[in-house]
Amino acid sequence: MPTSHTKYDPQNVFAKILRKEIPCKAIYENDFVLAFHDIAPQAPVHALVIPKNPYISYAEFAERAAPEEIVAFTKAVAFVAKELGLSEGGYRVISNTGKDSGQEVPHFHMHIMGGRPMGFMG
Ligand code: 5GP
Repeated sequence: MPTSHTKYDPQNVFAKILRKEIPCKAIYENDFVLAFHDIAPQAPVHALVIPKNPYISYAEFAERAAPEEIVAFTKAVAFVAKELGLSEGGYRVISNTGKDSGQEVPHFHMHIMGGRPMGFMG
Protein backbone atom coordinates (compact mmCIF):
# COMPACT_ATOMS: atom_id res chain seq x y z
CA MET A 1 0.00 0.00 0.00
CA PRO A 2 1.37 3.46 -0.82
CA THR A 3 2.26 5.90 1.92
CA SER A 4 0.30 9.13 1.90
CA HIS A 5 1.43 12.75 2.29
CA THR A 6 -2.10 13.94 2.99
CA LYS A 7 -4.25 12.69 5.80
CA TYR A 8 -6.78 10.08 4.76
CA ASP A 9 -9.91 9.87 6.90
CA PRO A 10 -10.59 6.16 7.51
CA GLN A 11 -14.12 7.03 8.64
CA ASN A 12 -15.23 8.34 5.24
CA VAL A 13 -18.25 6.56 3.80
CA PHE A 14 -16.37 4.75 1.02
CA ALA A 15 -13.79 3.42 3.49
CA LYS A 16 -16.72 2.04 5.46
CA ILE A 17 -18.14 0.45 2.31
CA LEU A 18 -14.75 -1.14 1.57
CA ARG A 19 -14.65 -2.56 5.11
CA LYS A 20 -18.26 -3.77 4.62
CA GLU A 21 -19.39 -1.72 7.62
CA ILE A 22 -22.15 -0.28 5.45
CA PRO A 23 -23.78 -1.97 2.47
CA CYS A 24 -23.60 -1.07 -1.19
CA LYS A 25 -25.11 -2.41 -4.39
CA ALA A 26 -21.92 -3.88 -5.78
CA ILE A 27 -21.40 -4.22 -9.53
CA TYR A 28 -17.83 -5.44 -9.85
CA GLU A 29 -14.75 -6.05 -7.74
CA ASN A 30 -11.16 -7.09 -8.32
CA ASP A 31 -7.89 -6.82 -6.38
CA PHE A 32 -7.67 -3.06 -6.98
CA VAL A 33 -11.19 -1.66 -7.28
CA LEU A 34 -14.79 -1.87 -6.13
CA ALA A 35 -17.68 -0.60 -8.29
CA PHE A 36 -21.18 0.02 -6.94
CA HIS A 37 -24.33 1.99 -7.67
CA ASP A 38 -24.51 5.59 -6.42
CA ILE A 39 -27.02 5.98 -3.58
CA ALA A 40 -28.49 9.16 -5.14
CA PRO A 41 -28.30 8.61 -8.89
CA GLN A 42 -28.13 11.70 -11.11
CA ALA A 43 -28.85 9.69 -14.28
CA PRO A 44 -30.69 6.43 -15.08
CA VAL A 45 -27.36 4.68 -14.65
CA HIS A 46 -24.97 6.16 -12.06
CA ALA A 47 -22.15 4.01 -10.76
CA LEU A 48 -19.02 4.75 -8.76
CA VAL A 49 -15.65 3.06 -9.12
CA ILE A 50 -13.23 3.36 -6.22
CA PRO A 51 -9.71 2.07 -5.62
CA LYS A 52 -9.27 -0.21 -2.62
CA ASN A 53 -6.19 1.73 -1.54
CA PRO A 54 -6.75 4.93 0.45
CA TYR A 55 -6.34 7.86 -1.93
CA ILE A 56 -8.17 11.05 -1.05
CA SER A 57 -8.62 12.35 -4.58
CA TYR A 58 -7.90 11.89 -8.26
CA ALA A 59 -4.86 14.11 -7.80
CA GLU A 60 -3.41 11.86 -5.13
CA PHE A 61 -4.27 8.71 -7.07
CA ALA A 62 -2.57 10.00 -10.22
CA GLU A 63 0.48 11.03 -8.25
CA ARG A 64 0.92 8.04 -5.97
CA ALA A 65 -0.74 4.92 -7.36
CA ALA A 66 1.41 2.24 -8.96
CA PRO A 67 1.17 2.01 -12.76
CA GLU A 68 -0.50 -1.42 -12.53
CA GLU A 69 -3.12 0.05 -10.24
CA ILE A 70 -3.83 2.95 -12.59
CA VAL A 71 -4.16 0.57 -15.53
CA ALA A 72 -6.46 -1.74 -13.55
CA PHE A 73 -8.60 1.17 -12.44
CA THR A 74 -8.91 2.64 -15.94
CA LYS A 75 -9.84 -0.71 -17.43
CA ALA A 76 -12.33 -1.40 -14.64
CA VAL A 77 -14.18 1.86 -15.37
CA ALA A 78 -14.63 0.91 -19.03
CA PHE A 79 -15.56 -2.66 -18.10
CA VAL A 80 -18.22 -1.54 -15.64
CA ALA A 81 -19.71 0.90 -18.16
CA LYS A 82 -19.94 -1.94 -20.66
CA GLU A 83 -21.45 -4.30 -18.10
CA LEU A 84 -24.07 -1.66 -17.32
CA GLY A 85 -25.10 -1.58 -20.98
CA LEU A 86 -23.71 1.86 -21.75
CA SER A 87 -21.49 0.95 -24.69
CA GLU A 88 -23.99 1.86 -27.38
CA GLY A 89 -25.51 5.02 -25.93
CA GLY A 90 -22.29 6.26 -24.39
CA TYR A 91 -21.59 7.60 -20.94
CA ARG A 92 -19.88 10.28 -18.91
CA VAL A 93 -16.91 9.66 -16.62
CA ILE A 94 -16.06 12.35 -14.08
CA SER A 95 -14.10 12.69 -10.87
CA ASN A 96 -14.48 15.64 -8.54
CA THR A 97 -11.20 16.60 -6.94
CA GLY A 98 -11.01 18.94 -3.99
CA LYS A 99 -13.03 21.83 -2.63
CA ASP A 100 -13.92 23.79 -5.75
CA SER A 101 -15.10 20.67 -7.56
CA GLY A 102 -17.66 19.92 -4.86
CA GLN A 103 -16.06 16.60 -3.92
CA GLU A 104 -18.03 15.31 -0.95
CA VAL A 105 -16.44 11.96 -0.18
CA PRO A 106 -12.68 12.15 0.48
CA HIS A 107 -11.87 8.79 -1.09
CA PHE A 108 -11.04 8.97 -4.81
CA HIS A 109 -13.95 7.84 -6.97
CA MET A 110 -14.92 7.95 -10.60
CA HIS A 111 -18.55 8.57 -11.47
CA ILE A 112 -19.98 6.70 -14.47
CA MET A 113 -23.26 8.20 -15.68
CA GLY A 114 -25.41 7.29 -18.63
CA GLY A 115 -28.81 6.25 -19.87
CA ARG A 116 -29.90 9.72 -20.99
CA PRO A 117 -28.54 12.55 -23.12
CA MET A 118 -26.46 14.95 -21.04
CA GLY A 119 -25.67 18.61 -21.42
CA PHE A 120 -22.31 20.15 -20.70
CA MET A 121 -22.75 20.34 -16.93
CA GLY A 122 -25.43 17.79 -16.29
P1 5GP B 1 -18.62 13.50 -4.95
O1 5GP B 1 -19.50 14.70 -4.72
O2 5GP B 1 -17.68 13.29 -3.78
O3 5GP B 1 -17.92 13.53 -6.28
O4 5GP B 1 -19.58 12.27 -5.05
C1 5GP B 1 -19.92 11.47 -3.97
C2 5GP B 1 -21.02 10.53 -4.43
O5 5GP B 1 -21.15 9.51 -3.47
C3 5GP B 1 -22.38 11.21 -4.58
O6 5GP B 1 -22.85 11.02 -5.90
C4 5GP B 1 -23.24 10.49 -3.54
O7 5GP B 1 -24.57 10.29 -3.95
C5 5GP B 1 -22.50 9.19 -3.34
N1 5GP B 1 -22.67 8.62 -2.02
C6 5GP B 1 -22.56 9.27 -0.82
N2 5GP B 1 -22.76 8.41 0.19
C7 5GP B 1 -23.00 7.21 -0.36
C8 5GP B 1 -23.29 5.91 0.19
O8 5GP B 1 -23.36 5.69 1.39
N3 5GP B 1 -23.47 4.88 -0.70
C9 5GP B 1 -23.39 5.08 -2.06
N4 5GP B 1 -23.59 4.00 -2.84
N5 5GP B 1 -23.12 6.28 -2.60
C10 5GP B 1 -22.94 7.33 -1.77
